[in-house]
Amino acid sequence: MEQDQQGIRAGSRTRWAYSPPVAARETFIGAGQAPESVLEALEGLRGGDVRWRNGRAFSLAYSAGPEVLALSEEAYRRFSGENALNMVAFPSLREMHNDVVATALSWVHGDSDTAGFMTSGGTESLVLTVRAAVRRAQREGRTLTRPNMVLPTTAHAALEKGADYFGVESRRIDVRPDWRADTAAMLEAIDDQTVLLVGSAPSYPQGVVDDIPPLAAEAAARRINCHVDACMGGVTLPYMERGGESVAPWDFRVDGVTSISVDLHKYGYAAKGSGLLLHRNKFLRADQTFVTDNWLGGTYGSSGILGTKSGGPIASSWAVMRHLGDEGYQRLTDSARSSALAIARHLEGHQVLRLRALPDSTLLCIGLRDDLRHDDIAPDVYAVADGLAARGWYVDRQAPPRSIHLTVNAVHAEVLHEFLRDLDEVSATVAGPGSEGGYAVIE
Ligand SMILES: *Cc1c(COP(=O)(O)O)cnc(C)c1O
Repeated sequence: MEQDQQGIRAGSRTRWAYSPPVAARETFIGAGQAPESVLEALEGLRGGDVRWRNGRAFSLAYSAGPEVLALSEEAYRRFSGENALNMVAFPSLREMHNDVVATALSWVHGDSDTAGFMTSGGTESLVLTVRAAVRRAQREGRTLTRPNMVLPTTAHAALEKGADYFGVESRRIDVRPDWRADTAAMLEAIDDQTVLLVGSAPSYPQGVVDDIPPLAAEAAARRINCHVDACMGGVTLPYMERGGESVAPWDFRVDGVTSISVDLHKYGYAAKGSGLLLHRNKFLRADQTFVTDNWLGGTYGSSGILGTKSGGPIASSWAVMRHLGDEGYQRLTDSARSSALAIARHLEGHQVLRLRALPDSTLLCIGLRDDLRHDDIAPDVYAVADGLAARGWYVDRQAPPRSIHLTVNAVHAEVLHEFLRDLDEVSATVAGPGSEGGYAVIE
């Protein structure tokens, strides 16, 4: 996004940050229209959207195929108007919510003490994680002057949001050359104001699982929280393990892990707005909740940040889980994992591209080969993303170092061949032998 004095440019539209005073504005409402023509107009708006249902997006959207999507959307539609703020009025939501939480707790090896709530997704889970860590320290009588959290540079940006919201210092520690958390350096950064340690399973940027046990052990010794961000891996890693792969320890079987975030709107294949924050016990879970009677409206309590919230995500999650069952999730996990490994294998010895790390689950991070640079001039891997975009593919761009990122899910099996062909052709044009390669980028 480029910002100038007048406004913020986002894509082709300009949104005015400072509206000039005008007497009357034109709106899109106009004269009312019949539902059919409104729906037609809605579909028309999709023209420029990435075709994620056809496997064209390697980020942002997930699909387990048309049948699962249709069920998810139908369940969402039926409960979209129900309000999960107060589940006393909607026992249906309470029952579905508890089923979903219990299933997720079984994935992460919870026991009779573990407990959790659904959230609107990873961001809400992580913001609440920061809040809960501060709460716990206060509850247990620690004197906090300037609380801090210690986390690797790969941990998700939403933790910064939480730190910003709750006045917590973020101590980011460089990762090791293998992109995993440098746990020794993290332990050194802890002091008496540290309330939270974080590791990822796996990290979003490079897709590797951090070494959780040493972090969790230190957290337990200091009676502080240790959060494992499994927004991506919370469904995939359990089914990889059930499928016979060896997975580094990351869940509640690791002593000292106090909470785990899992997103169902990613590899749970449920509708957007479906996340989970799971806790070691109900006392720790209480640190994420809020209750007040300090107004004239009576006692008001909520488990998360939102007040009114749609029952849609709960119904969608419940329906998709019920439909897929263990077998379905196993099949989808196997599929996504084999597609990710197929891409990884394809990149071995590639003329132009190189994988930054072998994927511990289904996330890939791709850069250009180092030997393509001459002095300070190097081709730009973002040009590969541009070339892919011109062919209808959407991949994430991330930095540092400049890389493209693929979130591989079940939808990709059917387009894998076509994608790898396009990836090869585009990358050869950008940086292959004899190409212009005229991008001056210093990483
Ligand atoms: C997606 C993601 C988040 C943020 O979740 P949202 O659902 O986008 O709010 C946090 N952590 C990790 C590892 C993620 O992949």
